This record gives sequence, structure tokens and C-alpha cells, in this order.
Amino acid sequence: MSEQRGVCPFCAHVAAWRFSGVSVSLPPTGGDYEWAEVEASTGCPACAQPIAVRVRVDLDDYTVDRLISSPMPQTAEWRRYVAATINRHAANLVTVQVFAVAEDVATVQQALEKHGGEGHLSNLRRTVLELSQAGYREPNGAPLHASAQDAIHYDPLGLR
Ligand SMILES: [Zn+2]
Repeated sequence: MSEQRGVCPFCAHVAAWRFSGVSVSLPPTGGDYEWAEVEASTGCPACAQPIAVRVRVDLDDYTVDRLISSPMPQTAEWRRYVAATINRHAANLVTVQVFAVAEDVATVQQALEKHGGEGHLSNLRRTVLELSQAGYREPNGAPLHASAQDAIHYDPLGLR
């Protein structure tokens, strides 16, 4: 049983999640697929709420290869800071990949420094953001484009 760390949308607890109910329907024809993205369910070990997530499944052995995304904050109860990579594919298409989360800016700032610090390369920017039910906001309060606010997406290396 594979475990991946995620942020509970209800209580903000960060924990290694276990997955159940992962079912894969293979593409009808052709293709040499090594993995598939599917819906799965997990539960928060802190508040016991069920959480619907997206995971990547290895088609060799049907194990969860990694956590893709989980719901944005579902209550106004929590607000956190994240270290993340923002990818501006276009003005109206922005994705955020989170690699650290904490209650305070200093902790995520440290995580950011460990990963090379604030950085900008082409349409990629590595930085600190605020995350709440209102979505992702820059430290100056500016919200990210709505396309960034659909879910919490995780860095492929996992949440640290
Ligand atoms: Zn929880």
C-alpha cells in the first residue's frame, strides 16, 4: 500500500495518506501506457473526513505512484503558507505545484531556500504563496488566476 503526503482540505493536517477504491479502466485500444491518472479516496488521520483525490497509478502493478491533487481548502477554518512552483502556461492558464506547507511564512521560506530559493525561469516561478478557502494569493494579497484555484497540485517529489 503506497502512501503519499497531502494537505487535508478540512483541517489542514499534513499526513501520509493511504488510498483505497482505486480502480483503473484501461484505454479502449492501442497505446503503450505505463500509468494512468484516476480518482481515488483517502481519509484524514487527524479529522477522519473522507477526501476525494487524484492519483497516478502504475499500470504494471496498479499501485499508486504518486498523489496528483487534492481539494482546495473546504472551510474558512484554515489558512497556510506554501512553497510552490507557479507555471504560467498562458495569461489565463496557471498551475501551482506545492512542495511545502506550514502555518508560518518562515518555515516555508526555509523550504524554498533548500530548493534554490526564489527563482524565475521562463514561465516558471518558485515562490511562497498563501493558501486559504479564497485560493492562492501572493504575499502582497494579489490572487492568482482562477485556473490555479481548482485543486492543490503536488510537486512530483512529494510534499516535504
Ligand atoms: Zn483533516
